[in-house]
Amino acid sequence: MELYELTIHELSDRLRAGEITSAEIVSSVFGRIDAVEKDVRAYITLMRETALAEAAEAGEKIRKGEGGPLAGIPVALKDIFCTKGVRTTCGSRILENFIPPYDATVVEKLRSAGAVFTGKTNMDEFAMGSSTENSFFGATRNPWDIERIPGGSSGGSAAAVTAGECIAAFGSDTGGSIRQPASLCGVVGMKPTYGRVSRYGLIAFASSLDQIGPFTKDVEDCAIVMNVIAGYDPRESTSVPQEVPDYRSFLGRDIKGWRVGIPKEYFIDGIDPEVEAAIRKAIRVVEGAGAKSVEISLPHTDYCVAVYYIVAPAEASSNLARYDGVKYGFRAGEARDLLEMYKKTRSAGFGAEVKRRIMIGTYALSSGYYDAYYRKASQVRGLIKRDFDEAFKNCDVILTPTSPTPAFRLGERTDDPLQMYLSDIFTISANLAGIPGISVPCGYTTGGLPIGVQFLAGHFQEGRLLQAASAYEKHARIDKRRPSL
Ligand code: GLN
Repeated sequence: MELYELTIHELSDRLRAGEITSAEIVSSVFGRIDAVEKDVRAYITLMRETALAEAAEAGEKIRKGEGGPLAGIPVALKDIFCTKGVRTTCGSRILENFIPPYDATVVEKLRSAGAVFTGKTNMDEFAMGSSTENSFFGATRNPWDIERIPGGSSGGSAAAVTAGECIAAFGSDTGGSIRQPASLCGVVGMKPTYGRVSRYGLIAFASSLDQIGPFTKDVEDCAIVMNVIAGYDPRESTSVPQEVPDYRSFLGRDIKGWRVGIPKEYFIDGIDPEVEAAIRKAIRVVEGAGAKSVEISLPHTDYCVAVYYIVAPAEASSNLARYDGVKYGFRAGEARDLLEMYKKTRSAGFGAEVKRRIMIGTYALSSGYYDAYYRKASQVRGLIKRDFDEAFKNCDVILTPTSPTPAFRLGERTDDPLQMYLSDIFTISANLAGIPGISVPCGYTTGGLPIGVQFLAGHFQEGRLLQAASAYEKHARIDKRRPSL
């Protein structure tokens, strides 16, 4: 087995035993990048030189017996995290040459844990999309079939982990952008509770929904990185000053007697029959692990996509007002006055989907329409959150499909925004309610494409989620295939 194929916990055991060095892992990963990146296109920017220097530093730490399990491990960052001195584009032309003067909190935390950064991964522009086709830098491919999309918007991060172009990666999830690509690429992806991970230095899309989380090869690795990135940050006013448990302590515990809620509204027409069969099988697996499945109802499920596509564009239209050619990145040349400069910059700097969202959002917030759209959507959002509060009175975790279909073909949904928006029909609710969710591989289609199962839990119940996911992973024993790139 090559080093790039191993997990964080396997590599860190070997590092500590002195069997391998971080520099060897880094060269294995970059060797893999050299071999497959031309097909996968997971990265916007590679950080080869600094990675080698960081590996040497981490090696020192490990020799002295310092540094946790992430020391010396190569990880990738979605290009939405500010990285000091390293170009951060958010997948957009408007930030094509933006070099942040500071690191995001998550980046700082990973750095002090000794992680090595491989590069910045591709994404839908400003995280708006479900396929990574909305990137100014071109689409990322699904390593299982390079004619297909990896999911989005954090498609580069998911594809990089899957293809062995990093050991773990980080992304952001506003309506499913971690869990959906994790599911379509066959890796583990978690969106923590709103407020669990600091978003300082995360480029904002929709501030009441955005959350940061990891992509890993298994549930144990997810717990390891959550231990590093979770926690309060005085620089981020929505991060919550609540103690972070040791997430690893939840692994390997059983779920005997647990009640696993199956929302009846999540088994709808339009769900791919192979996905449905895999989810039904996953239900039997948790039952085999000693849990009891109970039917629950989330009665406002039907409104989730509609509410999201008011709230998210409204917040985006306001967040993206700052890109006017004055402070950041791209500025269109030759303008007669300031207004023309703004117009030209924004017309040329943003892609079609971002413009669509800005227009919808500006409309929804405009005077006379605010009450009918944004206020109404916020009220319905309250009902969606209440559905979950009620449901968790009757169950410990909820089990659903992550995505209604496996990875679709490149170009298949680019002309049909509504079809694209429906990719997140099962993931959006967790962002609206602020609760954590995780996607775990649960099988393959007959064509060999991965399928993911989603677990949801109450606010700040990441430990419970990891317990359910690790019990599921252990009992399901999904065969560990690798994409043949
Ligand atoms: N696909 C959804 C959207 O386009 C969610 C994206 C995300 O989570 N960043 O908005």
